Amino acid sequence: MIGCHGLVWTGRFDAEGLRRAVSGTLDAGYELLEIPLLDPFGFDREAGRAVLTGSGLRVAASLGLPMGADSSTAEPEQIARAEDVLRRALEVVHDLGGQDLCGVLYGSLRKYPAPATPGGRQASQDVLRQVAVRAAELGVTLSLEVVNRYEANQFNTARTALEYLNEIGDPSIKVHLDTYHMNIEESDLFSPVLEAGDRIGYVHIGESHRGYLGTGTVAFDEFFRALHTIGFTGPITFESFSTAVVDEELSRSLAIWRNLWQDGDDLAKHANAFIRNKIRANETLAMH
Ligand code: MN
Repeated sequence: MIGCHGLVWTGRFDAEGLRRAVSGTLDAGYELLEIPLLDPFGFDREAGRAVLTGSGLRVAASLGLPMGADSSTAEPEQIARAEDVLRRALEVVHDLGGQDLCGVLYGSLRKYPAPATPGGRQASQDVLRQVAVRAAELGVTLSLEVVNRYEANQFNTARTALEYLNEIGDPSIKVHLDTYHMNIEESDLFSPVLEAGDRIGYVHIGESHRGYLGTGTVAFDEFFRALHTIGFTGPITFESFSTAVVDEELSRSLAIWRNLWQDGDDLAKHANAFIRNKIRANETLAMH
């Protein structure tokens, strides 16, 4: 299941933006559309259903907890808001017929000024433990994205994410790996995939500068060999950002200051072929 992130197409996810994202994603040859859901209360569920139902695309949603709803602060008001945000996001995903909610579901997407605290760690884990019960009822998989040190402080590597998940103790909550972040934090792109194995629920494919695949420093051959080795069958979604398409909140959180592409159609078609070629090459290994 190969997917494309919505910000390749649009910075707005109203009916018009969603239509653009759906047609672009289908034209480029993908099977899944990932919608950024940073404000699940502001998302128009009716419009979403109207555009996405029957589109033929599977839907996933991703988010980082908004400022003021950061469960890892261990502040009671923020913890309560974080739980509300995650529960609403689950409802939206379910409404859209989706099966995946991923991203930084354990904190905000920002550079933290200090290390994670034991209280914040436990608070964010407690929220996820509760929310996972609802996710299971709705048939939605929660996958926690491992991101780099400038965007989260709970964990920044697959191994430490697994420790965090083991403390929660609910095997239905998965790990979400992203090659852009792995390229910054991991020692290589093979062993973390093997270590996480069947705990991986979702994958983002991003280049080291978040532009065209194959023009940066990410060791994609290593990474796709590892996915093949563990027999990964979950969503693999292309993620790329440019100043050509802007979401005021997400683009700023991710520090998208440079324009690495203009034409989302060309970018997405190129990435779809790039990803499928890597997967196909690994499938032929059985003949060696
Ligand atoms: Mn990502």
